[in-house]
Amino acid sequence: MAVTGDRTPAPSAVPFLPALPDPGTDAVLDSGLLPELSHAFGGPFHFLLPDRFDANVAAFRTALAETGVDGRIHYAKKANKAAVWIERCAATGTGVDVASLGELREALGNGVRGERVVVTGPAKSDQLLRVAVLQACLIAVDSLDELDRLLHHAPPGAPRAPRILLRLLPPQQPGSRFGMTGAELDTALARCVAAGDAVRMEGFSFHLSGYAIPPRVELAAALLDRCLAARTMGLQADRISIGGGFAVDYCAPADWYAFLTAQRPGHYHADRTFDPADFYPYHSPVAGADALRAVLAGTTATGTDSGPRTLADRLRDTGTLLLLEPGRALLDGAGASVFRIQGVKDRAGYAIVTVDGTSLSLSEQWFNSEFLPQPVLVGADGRASGDAAHPACVGGVSCLESDLLTWRKVPFPRRPQPGDLLVYPNTAGYQMDSNESPFHELPLPPKVVLDRTDGRPRWRLDRRPAP
Ligand SMILES: *Cc1c(COP(=O)(O)O)cnc(C)c1O
Repeated sequence: MAVTGDRTPAPSAVPFLPALPDPGTDAVLDSGLLPELSHAFGGPFHFLLPDRFDANVAAFRTALAETGVDGRIHYAKKANKAAVWIERCAATGTGVDVASLGELREALGNGVRGERVVVTGPAKSDQLLRVAVLQACLIAVDSLDELDRLLHHAPPGAPRAPRILLRLLPPQQPGSRFGMTGAELDTALARCVAAGDAVRMEGFSFHLSGYAIPPRVELAAALLDRCLAARTMGLQADRISIGGGFAVDYCAPADWYAFLTAQRPGHYHADRTFDPADFYPYHSPVAGADALRAVLAGTTATGTDSGPRTLADRLRDTGTLLLLEPGRALLDGAGASVFRIQGVKDRAGYAIVTVDGTSLSLSEQWFNSEFLPQPVLVGADGRASGDAAHPACVGGVSCLESDLLTWRKVPFPRRPQPGDLLVYPNTAGYQMDSNESPFHELPLPPKVVLDRTDGRPRWRLDRRPAP
């Protein structure tokens, strides 16, 4: 794959990979607001667009409504720590998927009712389980010992017996550390039956890594069959959760495939090589709510003589509720990260731009990979324009050699200058804050919520408590 010996590519040889055009974000970039906020905060910040989050939730709801499937959406909270998403969930009756006591507190504290919360994650702490039971949350049980802790240590005063799903270890991903094998599920079911009223076994769950549709259809159908079998044992088993993993489409297909073909070590600072298999699939032909549509339209054999049926048909036929846990997909287009350029210096054939923050605020850089949709250069008058290509990589302000927000030499339309802003587009899903730390005693970048009140954009700080 690697082509060596090309250390100083002609500027035109550096591939473009812009994010898909997004009118909501572009309006902010051209509004003149960002330089004001950069001045006010004196450092990098993220901006959040709650309208877009609401629209993404609505799109998932529409996909469910079109097929007449009874479903519930739970925003996977780990994808972004801001309070505003949870406020929107509370306001729109959307659920939340949490995996820690802190996340559960945030959900409950911002008004999401316990019944709307799904608690996932491995070997949950006793304290997390206790609060989850007291608040009637739905707990995705990851192991037999966790089930035993729930059955034998139910907190006194709980409004009802623990509500649980049993999480499956996907046979397609046998190396996963999450979930229970088929044999363990059988044991778990027997223990639930024996526990009688001491537990409410509401169904099964899985979460698959990757974005492929067919394994999700296949596993959902398998869990549906398990629900039917569990009902004959007297258990409730009327719902399945198919987790998250609805892809986000960041870049146009032509740009993405051209980039993958063209990219080589000479296109990166220090000739760094990345394994393209480690890149997020920045273009997905089927993404977001359309990925849910594709899952629901997937056909499965029923084991009866009625022939193959779509997953949607089978969910409706069997009166089974479909639970979803999208994280990244609900945040598509719902935020961006803004850095100010502090310095520009030259290397052979490209520049090194240094910004006022670190790559800890762009998490992809910490997974042996790169956030590839290119940052947008914004000056005092909005987005920079020009036909030339001025290649530059983007370094962080820390003393780490490896602290680059972008190793790739990005072709900017004009030469970046100190005082310009660099805006990384579409970063709300996982990029903003999962790895942030006050390294070097740099403050954490604040989050600015851009509301639309009566059509007028207004900003405020996200009300996130200190970590
Ligand atoms: C991370 C996670 C999700 C969300 O995944 P996305 O790819 O962001 O949609 C959902 N469910 C579980 C159990 C998870 O761990």
